[in-house]
Amino acid sequence: MSWTPICKKPAPDEPAPNLIDETVMRAGFSWENARAELAGLPNGGLNIAYEAVDRQVEAGLGKTVALRWLGKNGERREYTYADLAHLSNRFANLLERLGIGKGDRVCTLAGRIPELYVTALGTLKVGAVFCPLFSAFGPEPVRVRVAKSRARLLVTTSLLYQRKILPQREQLPDLEHVLLADGDDDSNVRSFHTLMEAESDRRAPPTTLPEDWALLHFTSGTTGAPKGAVHVHDAVAAHRLTGRWVLDLRPGDVFWCTADPGWVTGVSYGIIAPLTNGVTLVVDEAEFDARRWYAILARERVNVWYTAPTAIRMLMKVGADAAHGHDLSALRFMASVGEPLNPEGVIWGLETLGQPFHDTWWQTETGAIMIANTRDRDIRPGSMGQPLPGVEAAIVRRRSDGGVDLLESGEEGELALRTGWPSMFRGYLEDEARYRQCFAADWYLSGDLATRDADGYFWFLGRSGDVIKTSGHLIGPFEVENVLLEHPAVAEAGMIGKPDDYAGQIVKVFVALKPDHAPDDALRRELLGFARNRLGPAVAPRELEFMSDLPKTRSGKIMRRLLRAQELGLPPGDLSTLENNDGNES
Ligand code: ATP
Ligand code: MG
Repeated sequence: MSWTPICKKPAPDEPAPNLIDETVMRAGFSWENARAELAGLPNGGLNIAYEAVDRQVEAGLGKTVALRWLGKNGERREYTYADLAHLSNRFANLLERLGIGKGDRVCTLAGRIPELYVTALGTLKVGAVFCPLFSAFGPEPVRVRVAKSRARLLVTTSLLYQRKILPQREQLPDLEHVLLADGDDDSNVRSFHTLMEAESDRRAPPTTLPEDWALLHFTSGTTGAPKGAVHVHDAVAAHRLTGRWVLDLRPGDVFWCTADPGWVTGVSYGIIAPLTNGVTLVVDEAEFDARRWYAILARERVNVWYTAPTAIRMLMKVGADAAHGHDLSALRFMASVGEPLNPEGVIWGLETLGQPFHDTWWQTETGAIMIANTRDRDIRPGSMGQPLPGVEAAIVRRRSDGGVDLLESGEEGELALRTGWPSMFRGYLEDEARYRQCFAADWYLSGDLATRDADGYFWFLGRSGDVIKTSGHLIGPFEVENVLLEHPAVAEAGMIGKPDDYAGQIVKVFVALKPDHAPDDALRRELLGFARNRLGPAVAPRELEFMSDLPKTRSGKIMRRLLRAQELGLPPGDLSTLENNDGNES
């Protein structure tokens, strides 16, 4: 682990970080105190949507813009906190009228449209469980998830309904109601807006309790079939606090989370954390486009930006020129999640955008950020950062008797978290056995391999299934891929272990090149030599194959299991669990 710390102290006109002296805060920290900062509800009640909007209205933010929506065709709409409170009341009243209540599942299948945000908040208010589905899924992944969630109501658009629900509606017997955000009533569907107009925008406060189910998120499916992780209203304590401490959100900020609400990041940090922190949330309906993104950062005066390594790699691939001429001076903090953030990305952010990207680590199961590079600390590029106050992380090895051994700093093992943080998932839908396997003693085992250095920074090695053993060495993909990404021709790299009679496995890498680089033998030799010089012969890749793009999940993560399957020559049938990859773009 070699690193040169990046130390970016606040500029004189910037506010001090929200989380300053972490050790002092940590000593005095308890989740009970964090919960006490929430508004709460009578009789010990708690509701995420109430904390996100009604509470802010009561605190005087009613006229503050909560959601600034940028349509893909240039439209622009703003919703204040008071607007969102009223609209979500209406939607909750509507659900109640349709007989949808506590514990019922409500799905969305839609792009980033305002109705999705109203649905999320109204669903939470009525005590139903919000389950967002990514709109670019094909019909089969949609069917699997709607069926598994047993959703009684779905909010979608006419086009998505026609393509992905109607042809298989008979296979979804639990789905009683479909509301179209852009359509009229007919025999099978109702108009979202017509129904909303008939409802009052007033409503008594919610009656949910902290342990009531609130959110159902399917995991990304990077390592196998996606799992449905259940979260409860208590999670809001973690969403709010991590928004304040890690993302450094404060009232008055303009915040942009590029993740789609079809994934956990797009809800935890694309809805709940920003609204519970009283900021203005930017939502862009359009897909990735480097020039559009820079224009949004500049024009909307975005202060805090939360994005993903896959987006950062795409920006790097387009080149720094696209950023030129945009005034990014409002940016105060940039962070990333979803995959390892390569040191190249951290440094590129600093050089090109004036801020380093701060890596944060968490999972669908953890519900909120657990380990992070925070604004007040030096970044060690390539490290995920340190556990937050209230989070106890360790590197462990499972024992056969069901316990765990805690490993020392420098040792490689599984990343584990001591149970008990509010946003911890409370189950995998209909898979209790799998849920239990995630725990040993009072530790949650993440399935990721990592090490901790002597100063308490955590370093990601890879997912347990992606780490390989070659001639007795354990090698994680991250280390090898990082080195290749240092080469100016490389845009993406993915490492796998290829079975080998002598070494057990050898390191093989798949590489996608930046524009203007030809995939020929000379470059292959150059890249292998480049990697060998930096990694040494034991760890260096022995084989390198060019691809135009690496296979990724719908959320943009590199799927090494697909690379492995390709390498082993598995027939397509064996790849059928890779349901994220089928289906059409919406
Ligand atoms: P599945 O569980 O279905 O295979 P997934 O694990 O990709 O999919 P998510 O919950 O969306 O589903 O992703 C969490 C995982 O993403 C983590 O366990 C880790 O492997 C990876 N990840 C997230 N953030 C980081 C990070 N900062 N550094 C390295 N890996 C990360
Ligand atoms: Mg996972």
